[in-house]
Amino acid sequence: MYNPKPGDRLESLDTPSMIVDLDIMEENIQKLMLLLKPLAVNIRPHLKTTKSPILAKKLMAAGAKGACVAKLSEAEVMAAEGIEDLLITCEIIGPAKVARLIELFRKHPAIQIVVDSEIGATAIDAALKESGIQEPIQVLIDLDVGLHRTGVAPELALALAQHISTLSHLKLLGIQGYEGHLQHVHGREQREKACRSSMAILTGTATLLREKGFNIQVVTTGGTGTAEFCATTPGVTEVQPGSFIFMDSDYRNAVGNYFSHSLTIISTVISKSASARRVTIDAGLKTLTTDSGFAEPKDMPDVTYTPMGDEHGWLQWKENKPDIPIGARVELIPSHIDPTVNLHDFYYAHRKGVIEEIWPVATRGRVQ
Ligand code: PLP
Ligand code: MN
Repeated sequence: MYNPKPGDRLESLDTPSMIVDLDIMEENIQKLMLLLKPLAVNIRPHLKTTKSPILAKKLMAAGAKGACVAKLSEAEVMAAEGIEDLLITCEIIGPAKVARLIELFRKHPAIQIVVDSEIGATAIDAALKESGIQEPIQVLIDLDVGLHRTGVAPELALALAQHISTLSHLKLLGIQGYEGHLQHVHGREQREKACRSSMAILTGTATLLREKGFNIQVVTTGGTGTAEFCATTPGVTEVQPGSFIFMDSDYRNAVGNYFSHSLTIISTVISKSASARRVTIDAGLKTLTTDSGFAEPKDMPDVTYTPMGDEHGWLQWKENKPDIPIGARVELIPSHIDPTVNLHDFYYAHRKGVIEEIWPVATRGRVQ
């Protein structure tokens, strides 16, 4: 039976497989801590990237205070594994999800949620009242700082805060304003400038709410591309970077090499054209996502990767015929890390080619 285990060499893995270079990953974590720890912010990494409670614990051991998850169903898995200081960064809407939230909150009362509408806030309050739970749930107002994905418009934030204050089972803890549209702005100066404008909206709204008597303790924001700018904005208390731990080619093209690629997909040459400058590998759309461009063959500057449907991909050489044989193995750097991780069951974490740990992608498919 196929049963990879710690101590095996990477060569023994079947392909495609998702592998993590532990030395590089640990360096990325240390670099994040080096960058942000001296600043007056909490680091609450976003687990939408790793989808792994094991990695969440490593991040917390390195200095993170709790974690973010995108979806409620991810929080269920993380909380059951003992990661209880969790912020769910997507709105909880609809009776089925609200009912799941109540069950989760009953067991894990440290859970924090976001709201961006009166209707959403009212439904959660009503369900909590009906459940008989006495304790209020900690809520952050989700603010639109320019991404236009979710979040109440800044001019409506006060009205939402006032509405929340009328709801006995919701406790307003703070405000979230994620500037996702700025993470991949090319050029450090341009990205910083745009980020400072979004942060002005976020901290300005927090100040206004405080002036109106609301106790805004948490102001949370930021991703890999902006965390250091957010963290040096007075008034921001917490940052939420996720992708830094593994990185991807799209992020590197925008923000540079401060963090390095620690995760690659290992794939095998399964067929070779006799006449063309290409070989076919066993990694296609089911292995690597394409929303942010195609993956990049690692350490093969003259070679491009193109998916050839669900299960296959081409490696193409610009000049010369490939001197790579059938059966050779290549590594690819994903173009967008979060949805690529979600395509795989396991991480094979190695040091210098020897597998040390195997981590399940525990919240794979947890999109609810
Ligand atoms: N916070 C929120 C609300 C997000 O949606 C994301 C990513 O989409 C992040 C933080 C983490 O960002 P990144 O993976 O770019 O570091
Ligand atoms: Mn992403």
